[in-house]
Amino acid sequence: MKLVAFGGGRIGIVRPGGVLDVTESLGVEPGEWPPVGMLRVIRDFDRHRDFLGAASGPLLSLDDIRLEAPIVWPNKLLAYPVNYFDHQAEMQSPNRADWNGFFLKAASSISGPRDPIVLPNLPNREIHHECELAIVIGRGGRDIDRDSAMDHVFGYACLIDVTVRGREERVMRKSHDTFTPIGPWIVTADEVPDPANLDLRLWVNDDLRQSANTRDMILDIPAMVVVASSVSELQPGDIIASGTPAGVGPIVAGDRVRIEIQHIGSMTVPVEQSESGGNSVYQTNDKRAAAVAH
Ligand code: MN
Repeated sequence: MKLVAFGGGRIGIVRPGGVLDVTESLGVEPGEWPPVGMLRVIRDFDRHRDFLGAASGPLLSLDDIRLEAPIVWPNKLLAYPVNYFDHQAEMQSPNRADWNGFFLKAASSISGPRDPIVLPNLPNREIHHECELAIVIGRGGRDIDRDSAMDHVFGYACLIDVTVRGREERVMRKSHDTFTPIGPWIVTADEVPDPANLDLRLWVNDDLRQSANTRDMILDIPAMVVVASSVSELQPGDIIASGTPAGVGPIVAGDRVRIEIQHIGSMTVPVEQSESGGNSVYQTNDKRAAAVAH
């Protein structure tokens, strides 16, 4: 099943020919605050599954609705750093998922599959795309073991981990608003035949920048669940950004970024420039770097 959010917090399922609006049937209140309707749907999905499979009604065209991020208020947005050997090599990075573990991005950085990436005003910095598989947690848990880890995975989505390069805290550089486009929907795990063998690709305009397969991950999906749940209790709707392969590079205003993951889907988001988003910390480091250069 493919679950979408649209139209200001409505929830739908994607059928051949369009989207079935199941908002009322699921008892979700569009516009509620905090916007956690999808989290409840995920928590209670076993109870909804038969109904959703059999539900019928008029279908809305995907062209006529505005898709939103399927989850906007997760308890946690976890992310693994360098998780493909080729990306470690290209960054000459001392970091690796199996050495560093995970970090957090602000959940408020999540944006939808039709929303722009809005670049902060940092003229001296490169801002990079990272093409990643998003893992959505279904059943929560603490100290999950490897044998049962996949039972806790609800589904998958495409995710772009946008990143300002620099020496500042990673959480700040990756948490600007719109820095985590997710979508275009959540595909439930039963529809993904082998998540350890998915092609993932990312283009900037017509330029293929990243092309990899999840079989080349350093920490595989069960390992990421085990490590995350050893630290904190996972909750329904938690999102794990699973790390990027080689080919990261800069994006600038006017670009269009397309991500495609086999058996999941694709989305294309535009890149815009903001006049805000800079701050004294970035500026201080820019000045220090310039002073060293002279
Ligand atoms: Mn990343």
